[in-house]
Amino acid sequence: MESINQDINETTYTNYMRYEHNITKIGWVILVFLILEDVFAKRTLLDQPIVLSAIITQGLLLSIFIALSIFKVCQAKTLTAKSKVIIFDLIKSLEIIVIAVMVSTMYHSVFFYFTALLPITFISLTKGFKKTVPYILLSLIVQILSQYIALAWFNKGGTGNLISDIKYLIIISIIQYMLFTLFCYIWSGIYNEYARSKEENNILIDRLGDKYVQLEQAKKEIQSHYDKLMETNNQLEEANRRLTSSLAELYTLQQISQAITSIFDMNELLKFVNDVIIGVMGVSHSTIALCYGSQNKLKVQVSSIFDKKNLAIVSDYINCDILKPSIEKGSSMIDNDVNEEEYPFTKGRNIKAMICVPLLAKGKALGIVLIEHSLKDAFDSENMRLLEVISQQVSIAIENARLYQQMHDLATLDGLTGAYNRLYFNDKLQEEYNRAQEGGHDLSFIIFDIDHFKKFNDTYGHLFGDLVLKTLSGFIKKTLRKEDVFARYGGEEFVILMPYTSLEQAREKAEDLRIGVSQLSITDRVVTASITISVGVSTYPETAGKPQELISTADDALYEAKRTGRNLVRVAKVRNK
Ligand code: GH3
Ligand code: MG
Ligand code: MG
Repeated sequence: MESINQDINETTYTNYMRYEHNITKIGWVILVFLILEDVFAKRTLLDQPIVLSAIITQGLLLSIFIALSIFKVCQAKTLTAKSKVIIFDLIKSLEIIVIAVMVSTMYHSVFFYFTALLPITFISLTKGFKKTVPYILLSLIVQILSQYIALAWFNKGGTGNLISDIKYLIIISIIQYMLFTLFCYIWSGIYNEYARSKEENNILIDRLGDKYVQLEQAKKEIQSHYDKLMETNNQLEEANRRLTSSLAELYTLQQISQAITSIFDMNELLKFVNDVIIGVMGVSHSTIALCYGSQNKLKVQVSSIFDKKNLAIVSDYINCDILKPSIEKGSSMIDNDVNEEEYPFTKGRNIKAMICVPLLAKGKALGIVLIEHSLKDAFDSENMRLLEVISQQVSIAIENARLYQQMHDLATLDGLTGAYNRLYFNDKLQEEYNRAQEGGHDLSFIIFDIDHFKKFNDTYGHLFGDLVLKTLSGFIKKTLRKEDVFARYGGEEFVILMPYTSLEQAREKAEDLRIGVSQLSITDRVVTASITISVGVSTYPETAGKPQELISTADDALYEAKRTGRNLVRVAKVRNK
């Protein structure tokens, strides 16, 4: 409230200055009008000649009034507020005196007493009633005195009786001034109330404006806080999404690594991985193809495509040009706008998006993982990254399996012929014997030895001898069943273990082999030769009761074959049970 009062005082002062300017201008106009009116009244009503000295006096007074006004305006521009007020009060008093004196020189002065009061009216408006009163009294006194002087000196317009004229003027003046004072009192009260409330309103509006600006500012700050919160929230959601997907990824990889350590069959492992990929990535199809042969040709190993026709199409076109970079450069591929012409393996399946990731071991491609989706733009780089991580693990498993297979082959196979070695054969013999014993079925054993191989070696050289052994082994392997075990027993001596085979069947088989071998034409670029073999056959339980007996009885039969002419099959003697 204190500061509002201060503001109002300042505003009132500004108004006061504005009013002053207006009053001054009105004052000039009225005074000019009064001079003209006086000339007119004297000329027309009194029919008197124009008195130049009176007009000059009036003009002089008007000039003084104008000069005071201008001085007042100039002062207002240069002085400080407090000193201005004193100067103004002084000038104001002088103005009142000048006007009052001027009015007294007029013929109709009695009607124009109010003129001197005009500036006072505005004092009441701007400074309040109390401060107006001294000016009213000053004006009244000056008015009466100047009127008295005018009457005394010029005896103008009066009745001729100076005392009664003065009395009359004093009464008129006092009545006029009393009425005017009352008017000022009421007027200043009403006006000040109006001005005050208007100022208060303006100040309140200004303050409300300030508040509005502050509120707008606060609103902007809240909005920016809200935006920041939203941004943080989005970042948290993104982090949450990433954590969730990392968790799913970790879980997937854990599942796969667990499978790698627990599933030893490579095909079964790949099937499991394929299923995991479909489950985790929500794809339409997943296919794993591995490289085979010296040309690294892809062969579909497992696939979620059940339809035989579609699977055949995939198998036929899996080596198409578009997938080649994956194998040749080991690079991953992603395409979210697949068409059948470019991707022939998708024919008839309406595939719209695919990712192909190579299975790599030491930079060399082992195969590919191919995932497909029936929706366009189904995949992003995140999907590709996850598939690459899965593929890395699968690649390690495949590489390990291959290494294991190599080690296994080294340990069980004969390097020259590719037939099993004697060590492995002995294990197999015991195993098959146990099974035959438990199952009560026959187990036959064939042993054969190349005839006169020493001489053969001597004639054609050891290398050609090796070629003979390889060719012979290749031929034998081709003629055997999956369950038969073919091994190099030593030198140029080979054995065959045949489960579920009777003595007679084994003899027939041996006979076939003997004939087949004798018909083999073994050739390198220079030499062509043929060989014969002598064969001994024995069968559990007919001719032998124990594994060792199978070997010894068959060996006896082989010896018999050698002894009786070679290129023969001999069967062990039926044992006495
Ligand atoms: P027989 O008809 O009595 O069996 O006569 P043979 O000359 O074949 O006599 P034997 O079975 O005792 O001879 C084995 C020969 O086989 C000795 C050796 O020179 C040859 N040999 C053994 N292992 C290899 C081999 O890995 N490579 C080659 N080239 N020759 C071998
Ligand atoms: Mg021999
Ligand atoms: Mg031999």
